[in-house]
Amino acid sequence: METCPDCGVVLPGLGAERHAYMGGSASCWALYGQVLEREYSSPAYMKVHRTTVDAYAAQHPGLPDPRAIQSVNVHLVALFLTLDRKAHPDFVRRVLSRLARDKGTLKWLSPPAHLGEITVADVIEATDADAHHHLVMQWGGAVWRAWSPHHAGIIALAERVSRDLS
Ligand SMILES: [Zn+2]
Repeated sequence: METCPDCGVVLPGLGAERHAYMGGSASCWALYGQVLEREYSSPAYMKVHRTTVDAYAAQHPGLPDPRAIQSVNVHLVALFLTLDRKAHPDFVRRVLSRLARDKGTLKWLSPPAHLGEITVADVIEATDADAHHHLVMQWGGAVWRAWSPHHAGIIALAERVSRDLS
């Protein structure tokens, strides 16, 4: 068995490669791949894809590599805009591409000790699209709450970029 160093999920070890810069155990990453496959193969599951990607990435910050810095900031901004502001996915996408352009100004956010009580192992248990939708939104909310020490900075960043775009 192996424990994911980021989300803490315990799964049978795969002895496989980890993601290049995101944190997480190989088995956690593989389970996330199964969740994505489910979304790609069904429009009903795909509806919450944005939040699936954001929740997983923000829950697996990895180490302060430039790509990880960008990933954590961008996906936390997306969680905030989606969950708190109920922003349209197209608007979230525009904000994120602007952030990617300004990535040199982003800073590493030191991860909190716990990154949320829901993991990809809970989400994979969904037996239909409604349950999947519900679990993914719960997951995104749990990850967003876990990062509360950095909420002020992320909200300021999201609002600055949103203002620039409107
Ligand atoms: Zn994990």
